[in-house]
Amino acid sequence: MDVIEDPALQDPALQDPALEVLGRVFGYDAFRGPQREVVDHVVAGGDALVLMPTGGGKSLCYQVPALLRDGVGVVVSPLIALMQDQVDTLRTLGVRAGFLNSSQDRAERRAVEEAFLAEELDLLYVAPESLGGGASPTARLLERGRIALFAIDEAHCVAQWGHDFRPDYLALSMLHERWPDVPRIALTATATRATHTEISTRLQLDDALHVVAGFDRPNIQYRIAPKNEPRKQLLDLLRTEHPGDAGIVYCLSRASVEKTAEFLVGQGIAALPYHAGLDQRTRALHQSRFLREDGLVMVATIAFGMGIDKPDVRFVAHLDLPKSVEGYYQETGRAGRDGLPSTAWLAYGLADVVQQRKMIDSSEGDAAHRRVLSAQLDAMLALCETVECRRVRLLAHFGQESSPCGNCDTCLNPPESWDATVPAQMLLSTVLRLQRERGQSFGAGQSIDILLGKRTDKVAQHSHDELTTFGIGTDLSEGQWRGVVRQLLAQGLLAVQGEYGTLALNEASGPVLRREREVLMRREPDRPVRAARARGGKAAAPELPASAAGAFERLRAWRAATAKEQGVPAYVVFHDATLRQIATEEPATLSALGTIGGVGATKLERFGDQVLAALHG
Ligand code: ADP
Ligand code: ZN
Repeated sequence: MDVIEDPALQDPALQDPALEVLGRVFGYDAFRGPQREVVDHVVAGGDALVLMPTGGGKSLCYQVPALLRDGVGVVVSPLIALMQDQVDTLRTLGVRAGFLNSSQDRAERRAVEEAFLAEELDLLYVAPESLGGGASPTARLLERGRIALFAIDEAHCVAQWGHDFRPDYLALSMLHERWPDVPRIALTATATRATHTEISTRLQLDDALHVVAGFDRPNIQYRIAPKNEPRKQLLDLLRTEHPGDAGIVYCLSRASVEKTAEFLVGQGIAALPYHAGLDQRTRALHQSRFLREDGLVMVATIAFGMGIDKPDVRFVAHLDLPKSVEGYYQETGRAGRDGLPSTAWLAYGLADVVQQRKMIDSSEGDAAHRRVLSAQLDAMLALCETVECRRVRLLAHFGQESSPCGNCDTCLNPPESWDATVPAQMLLSTVLRLQRERGQSFGAGQSIDILLGKRTDKVAQHSHDELTTFGIGTDLSEGQWRGVVRQLLAQGLLAVQGEYGTLALNEASGPVLRREREVLMRREPDRPVRAARARGGKAAAPELPASAAGAFERLRAWRAATAKEQGVPAYVVFHDATLRQIATEEPATLSALGTIGGVGATKLERFGDQVLAALHG
């Protein structure tokens, strides 16, 4: 009998090259979700459009094919400031990566160009503007080399109505014309159908493989709390649930970013501000500290975050209401990319609604644009005021059906709805009387004072104590009345007008005043939801057993020192999830260490001995 001893037949690389690369380079033993389908399709030369949530694993969809196909994978990315980190991450994995952008000097550029032409690179990152319609030096360089594929990252930047629109992306349709044989893969975490269609049309990807991954992020716990004392609430979140954790706090304005960061620092929390008003150097410094150091809190406007792929962001807190569900979802999506439990917390109050409605009214642009903004805000408000599962609402917004999740505030502590028809009528009729009888309009505070029968100076000055609604609302507290006004605004039963954001009736107010329709409102639960009651334990990562906790701390200390020495963020060395697994499983040998998720061949060779020493030290 013939025994075939050709070792190649046993070689996994020949049986399944994609899986071999995944294991050897990245240290993972299986593809996740739709990765496999995309990789196979692109390796075979096909185009793809990939919609996957943040943390879903988009990078591997182009990195693995780039390693398997001849030539260099060219990645178009708008995130110049992050290219260095992306390249460092790949290099620690043993992948030959480089970038070209405006931050480099001539010599650095030359070196990368030569490596590209000599095919000594696996991946090359370039900025969209450097392709500049095709006549730029970078485009000419690309003509002279061999390209494995084009990856168009953050592809939603091509969408003209989107908040991240970049005109340079429009010119990327030319890639297809100039390099008809090079496969293209466009990737984004933005999920709405409109954006999807627009990317497909503008980048001519109608015939591409379209992959829409499930958008759920089950490890994120969504919580939306009424805003009472925002700073105290925030501090409580940081101190009791996330001490020492890295996280992002979003504020709407630069001023509130500054004040909040100062406040946190004053409370002994390591916080840094980030907004577009800071000079370039400070911003770059703060961003890089946030990425590199453990446990910093970034207080930022939405100018911060795109492309931040720090895996161990444990919480994202919003101190102001986001303008749309898309924005909220993207921002909260920056939490927990490593799959460990994380918190998305939002505080929201009456002033948020008034302010945002006002901003839309006074915004530039035509009525159609204002209608879009207003519809986006309404969807966000509906999410805030829902008595159903937050996740169900959120996923429904992206066209995905689901059932109650057990890991959001409404699931953990279901709010009741109550019949607020009578208070709604009292409030609306106060506004009506001010309007009709006095020709006046006021903010929410005055109507509430009137209903509560408060004889303030302003009430006396306008003789508002003579109105028939004066003092008829003492059954509710001031806080409850503010909740009523907020929910009336959120439900569109009351409007905000003018520069001062005063209250005004609208068409929908009529039927309520005439008792033709009921008004149901969300009653806030008495106690705020704490993560401890979540299914599966705390929002913070589950406690390690005592023996493993010590090992984990030793590994973290080793990682911090190594990262510092190499000038890279800690997670580039190893993710928390990998260190936790090492600490728990206590591998005794290098080959046992090599089976742990996230430990590929290059890292094993480079760090293996040191890790074992730190573990058993
Ligand atoms: P995205 O770009 O979609 O936000 P990433 O590509 O950064 O996501 O991946 C998110 C995290 O998931 C990373 O830490 C990555 O290493 C990990 N990951 C991706 N694919 C796999 C896989 N097949 N097995 C294990 N971990 C994976
Ligand atoms: Zn839920």
